[in-house]
Amino acid sequence: MNKSKVLLIYTGGTIGMKEEEIKNSLKPFNFNQITNEVPELNKINCRIDAISFEKPIDSSDININTWEEIGDHIYENYHKYDGFVVLHGTDTMSYTACALSFMFQNLDKPIILTGSQLPIGQVRTDGKENLITSIEIASAKKNKESIINEVAIYFEYQLFRGNRTTKVSSHHFDAFMSYNYPSLADVGVKIKYNYNAVLKNNTKEFHFLKGFDPKVHVVFFYPGILINELMHSILNNPSKIIILNSYGSGNLPISKEFYSFIQEQTKLNKIFLNVSQCASGTIDQDKYENGENLKKVGVIGVKDMTIEAVIVKSMFLINKFPNDKTKFIENFNFNISGEFTI
Ligand code: ASP
Repeated sequence: MNKSKVLLIYTGGTIGMKEEEIKNSLKPFNFNQITNEVPELNKINCRIDAISFEKPIDSSDININTWEEIGDHIYENYHKYDGFVVLHGTDTMSYTACALSFMFQNLDKPIILTGSQLPIGQVRTDGKENLITSIEIASAKKNKESIINEVAIYFEYQLFRGNRTTKVSSHHFDAFMSYNYPSLADVGVKIKYNYNAVLKNNTKEFHFLKGFDPKVHVVFFYPGILINELMHSILNNPSKIIILNSYGSGNLPISKEFYSFIQEQTKLNKIFLNVSQCASGTIDQDKYENGENLKKVGVIGVKDMTIEAVIVKSMFLINKFPNDKTKFIENFNFNISGEFTI
């Protein structure tokens, strides 16, 4: 029987860090040290090859170039492997998962991101189990086809669709949640796949599309926010995409001035998106008068997408359609890789 082949891409993060004796702070270390720490890797029944970032990084240093670098490594090796595991810091893992899920469309194999809360060299590390199970999932097949055909995050016994996740804890081992979509697999003695939830391996052609424009402007609302200052900052910001981080099902304070400002700016060249501060639930601009007013002036509700997905999808699409608002909106409302519920 042919052994599955998995490519491991080490980018950095806590999983591969060690404590600097003098300063007591965590620094990334090199990849061979990770494999030395996990001799169990040799017992897994699949071939594992590994590549490492020349200089492993803390994921808070990741930017659009890093997303593309990870994407390039996967694309260059796409046909040589059955699956991919990306070792990544937890802080921005959800953003990278979103970016990869938009870059790689119609996948027919898994890209699994994982990391850990404790370095792999520490006795109580969660990194070993996360790494070993991620490799198992990346190589898992049923009837000769990959079970997972999408970008996912594996963490603390659960596999999630990557673009539905949010990091929720800097303390607990179960650091990620997917509030609006069920897990793709639950791991105990066995790996139980949720076949109803995974993206189906469709016959559409696989695409790899790069390019992000980081110029998006996120506005966080809070009671007492000064609307005049807010309008001023939007006017002085070159971003075409304004992401309004609203309350509840998509409500903002009623301000006639602000609503006509949005209407005017929408007619010029800006696009306003409405994403809730609530992690669970959906935007519904028809539910309350405040939300309805936003819809009337052209604000687009993002359904039940996470804010991470909204930011990254905006960066991806504004790069593709910098001067075509209609195309941007049409594509934004299109479900690229399961990022919202239809
Ligand atoms: N700061 C680390 C990172 O995101 C945290 C972690 O990996 O858990 O790279």
